[in-house]
Amino acid sequence: MTLWEARSLPDCLFCKIVEGTIPARKVFEDESVVAFHDIQPQAPVHLLVIPKKHIATMNDCEADDSALLGHTLLVAQRIAKEAGLAESGYRLVNNCGSDAGQVVFHLHWHILGGEKLAALNP
Ligand code: C5P
Repeated sequence: MTLWEARSLPDCLFCKIVEGTIPARKVFEDESVVAFHDIQPQAPVHLLVIPKKHIATMNDCEADDSALLGHTLLVAQRIAKEAGLAESGYRLVNNCGSDAGQVVFHLHWHILGGEKLAALNP
């Protein structure tokens, strides 16, 4: 049993996407990370990148997760490039907790791009 299988939560939507019991339009998968199209895109390109291991939020990351976090971000960079966003730019977003609007409590980053995004500090 892999680490992510051992830590998978039965009621977690993204654990189910990792396991393949809920469908997703995956664009990348390796032994520790999955990336897929967001089901309700907020930009012309809207992808999600997640570690397979169930970690609820950024607050729940531990020192042992450093390699996994680094790898997840490098996967984000790679799939943003593959989606043609490297030149024009993109936004990489992690919502942590309820004030930030986190809805799915399995760590993930949004990759948003394909148009001029609204400024965060207009
Ligand atoms: O960061 P937050 O938790 O708010 O984002 C969760 C994201 O997961 C939403 O953008 C939602 O559209 C997406 N989602 C998805 N596929 C699902 C359920 C949610 O892409 N089956």
